[in-house]
Amino acid sequence: MAGEGNLFVISAPSGAGKTTLCKELIDFFPALRQSISYTTRPARSGEKDGVDYHFVSPDTFVGMVERGEFAEWAEVHGNKYGTALATLEDASQQGVDILLDIDCQGAAQLKKTCQHAVFIFILPPSVEELLRRLQGRQTDTPEVIQRRIDNARGEIAQAPWYDFIVVNDDLHTALNQLTSIVTAEGCRTKNQVKAIERLLNEG
Ligand code: ADP
Ligand code: 5GP
Repeated sequence: MAGEGNLFVISAPSGAGKTTLCKELIDFFPALRQSISYTTRPARSGEKDGVDYHFVSPDTFVGMVERGEFAEWAEVHGNKYGTALATLEDASQQGVDILLDIDCQGAAQLKKTCQHAVFIFILPPSVEELLRRLQGRQTDTPEVIQRRIDNARGEIAQAPWYDFIVVNDDLHTALNQLTSIVTAEGCRTKNQVKAIERLLNEG
């Protein structure tokens, strides 16, 4: 890991396994920090405020939008979600690598403002499997699941502008691919300048 403040943006249609993979990635790289988004969506059972999301009222969210407090925000599946500017600024100031699990609309906004960010899209192996995973998760009503499946095609159509595509068929293979991407980013010349300087200053 570089420790130079890399920004990883991960998007996927709901149910593709993004949350699962992001958790695994954070476990794999202890120095990688997950950005905690703000949302107007009600917490699912087991979700904790300040850990999974900052759960806020629609009024609080609109106030933050009006005060320009979001680096990006979007309405996704009927709820609003956003990444606070402060979250990105803190990570950048501390030189910490940060992982954002956000939708394509938000990612497209960051593509314009964060040139150094790495954009990764997670694809499901098939729409049939996507549906199976959404149903198997048992967190959403049939109506919510149908809305997420209806939105999936439009989201998948955005995949070509991302830097990397990972197909989450076998979880272990997908995680391997993701860790390779993060590791490779740490090896970029811009992230190894200090190592070069240290060697040149030896003896
Ligand atoms: P997302 O965050 O993209 O909506 P989740 O991470 O919640 O998706 O995953 C949706 C469901 O699919 C969960 O029940 C999860 O355990 C399961 N899942 C994730 N990855 C795989 C995989 N590679 N194979 C089978 N099931 C998976
Ligand atoms: P869920 O409700 O399943 O947790 O998330 C639904 C969708 O919202 C996912 O595609 C997730 O990536 C996206 N999302 C979560 N946080 C943010 C955010 O801060 N900004 C944007 N634009 N999307 C987000």
